[in-house]
Amino acid sequence: MGDGKRTYVVLLGVPGAGKGTQARLLEEKLKLPQISTGDIFRYNLKNQTELGVLAKSYMDQGALVPDEVTIRMVEDRLAQPDCAAGAIMDGFPRNLVQAKAFDTMVAPYGGVRVAPLISLDDEEAVRRITGRRVCRTCGAVYHVDFNPSEVAGKCDLDGGELYQRDDDKPETVRHRLYVYYKQTAPLIGYYYAKSILVELDGAQPIESVYEQLVALVDKSS
Ligand code: ADP
Ligand code: ADP
Repeated sequence: MGDGKRTYVVLLGVPGAGKGTQARLLEEKLKLPQISTGDIFRYNLKNQTELGVLAKSYMDQGALVPDEVTIRMVEDRLAQPDCAAGAIMDGFPRNLVQAKAFDTMVAPYGGVRVAPLISLDDEEAVRRITGRRVCRTCGAVYHVDFNPSEVAGKCDLDGGELYQRDDDKPETVRHRLYVYYKQTAPLIGYYYAKSILVELDGAQPIESVYEQLVALVDKSS
């Protein structure tokens, strides 16, 4: 292959900005898979794989899992058949080394199409993360106040148990924001220089952010 263009969307924003929520909504609309490196690590953790055990020590501290491991994992994921038309990247790349490696991976297919930055201030991000609840079975994302499930503690989609991620406790959240500003925020300049950065206001309701994202992916095609 290497002849056809693909749609790679890189979602940027602080932890809690709404990347995962939007990626899950966009999956259906754009007919592209969401690739969440955080979800892949958590899946491996749940199944006690070697990768999961390694990732845990970093995730518990709110630090980044080493690039080598993370990049290889994304390469493997992108080689799967459901990624044949592109992907919605949620939580990867997260530093410049990963961004450059990702550019190399997708260069044969037209490169990254668009990098939407979902902006949100830190205080609101902390409120979102500390109230976040996730379905143990399917990974669907809720918020105790802003996006509650119909029945408290149960997933609307499959009735799975909703839990709070270990790294969503206030102590870890502050360190994750620090890591974001130090390592991930430089990607804003990186994609801006490539003329594919588009900023949108993440403080709006989920549906409004979604509509804007759909419009800007359409426009970029
Ligand atoms: P990220 O993947 O960027 O860390 P999530 O999509 O997991 O962010 O969202 C973080 C939390 O905020 C979740 O509890 C989610 O339900 C909630 N949330 C997401 N988008 C919005 C929004 N636009 N308004 C209010 N709450 C939101
Ligand atoms: P959030 O959406 O709240 O930012 P994620 O689910 O994306 O959280 O990530 C959770 C944790 O998984 C991170 O704090 C980090 O330890 C690890 N992780 C996820 N993506 C990456 C990545 N691209 N590189 C390194 N570590 C990652």
